[in-house]
Amino acid sequence: MIRAVLFDLDDTLVDHQHANRAALAGVRERFAALQARALDDLVAENQRILDDIHEDVAVGRRDVADARIERYRRLFAFAGEPNGRAAAAAELHRRVYQANRRRVEGALELVTLLAARLRVAIVTNHTVAEQQEKLATFGFAPMVHALVTSEEVGAAKPDPRIFRAALTRVECEAHEAVMIGDAWYQDIVGATGAGIRALWLNRQGLAHPDSSLALQIAALHPAEHIAALVTPDHVLLNRPA
Ligand SMILES: [Mg+2]
Repeated sequence: MIRAVLFDLDDTLVDHQHANRAALAGVRERFAALQARALDDLVAENQRILDDIHEDVAVGRRDVADARIERYRRLFAFAGEPNGRAAAAAELHRRVYQANRRRVEGALELVTLLAARLRVAIVTNHTVAEQQEKLATFGFAPMVHALVTSEEVGAAKPDPRIFRAALTRVECEAHEAVMIGDAWYQDIVGATGAGIRALWLNRQGLAHPDSSLALQIAALHPAEHIAALVTPDHVLLNRPA
């Protein structure tokens, strides 16, 4: 029987990509040097930079604020202006990002439905402080049984240690949990490697890397439909109306 659902947070429950693109567009508009590159190129380069430095942030080896400035040092260099005002750009990015944050559509409804019958844990490659703030701001906090961060565990997804830590926190065996996340490698390869069944949230319509490993879902709604995929043993059918 399924007793717990594990959620990734960024781009699974909270829409990071939307806020991030808005922030990059806002900074590009203000800092002319960045206009040497198209917004799409800055978005792609930003992703490469994050892929390179985020794990250090996620396990606490690098300060979050320092990483934000380093990201803009590299973006200015990418745009051919190595002496760009990285700290000021990072500060503006942060402000525009915060103003453009939103939930992934259907996320609150799905978590609410599942939390009525299952333990809900968040398994995320980030810091405790950043993720606690998001869970509180977007209304998930009261329904979350455990927040499991790479910072706290000292290992980032897809490392099985973070999934094992999550199972311990929700007091479940691997076969009693389901992972839902958007990142194929970190969330899906990671969870299934730890023996946990996974649902891949593929909002972008990417090619499915391996349909034998996980079912894909294009959205978190309708909640009843997704919940039935999480708990094929139909534990949710007995929930109060
Ligand atoms: Mg994610």
